[in-house]
Amino acid sequence: RVDLKELLQEIMLNLWTKAEKRSIELRIDSVDKPIVEGDANRLKQVFLNLVDNAIKFSHENSAIDLIVSFEGNNVVVQVHDTGIGISEDHLVKVKDRFFQVDPLNGGTGLGLAISQQLVELHHGILLIQSELGVGTTIVVRLPRLLEDDSPADSPELPMLPGASS
Ligand code: ATP
Ligand code: MG
Repeated sequence: RVDLKELLQEIMLNLWTKAEKRSIELRIDSVDKPIVEGDANRLKQVFLNLVDNAIKFSHENSAIDLIVSFEGNNVVVQVHDTGIGISEDHLVKVKDRFFQVDPLNGGTGLGLAISQQLVELHHGILLIQSELGVGTTIVVRLPRLLEDDSPADSPELPMLPGASS
């Protein structure tokens, strides 16, 4: 069980200094208890890469928004930046392993390919919406774990009269 709101807050702390250096603000707007099933470390790797990309390809004095919502039985995380964006030609390739629009930016070009695979292993999908010169939004959709779905790891308590659960 992974609370994506808590996970993203942790990532914001991890990347704060990096963003601060370029005067980029990291913001989060999340529903309460966006819980999914999965491996916290792997999911952290996914969102660390996405937020790292957003910072790397943003202009100074801009903001990155992490938006978490429910859509049906899914949790949807959007990582939104107003950075350099990706052209239509490149958009189809950026999820390929080792592809980088500009290799001089450093890195390996593996981040998005790995993120996509990890999201799919969690039965989710990763979409990229982008416009050159305008910005990029990465959408990650993962099946929501309802709290009632949790295995009986806590003892069954008798319901007291008047108690609400
Ligand atoms: P690594 O993640 O291995 O450090 P990387 O960030 O270059 O390297 P990916 O995360 O796979 O690799 O991204 C691939 C390419 O897609 C990037 O090099 C960049 O050209 C483009 N890209 C990714 N995210 C964004 C973004 N938010 N805005 C603009 N371009 C992006
Ligand atoms: Mg990357």
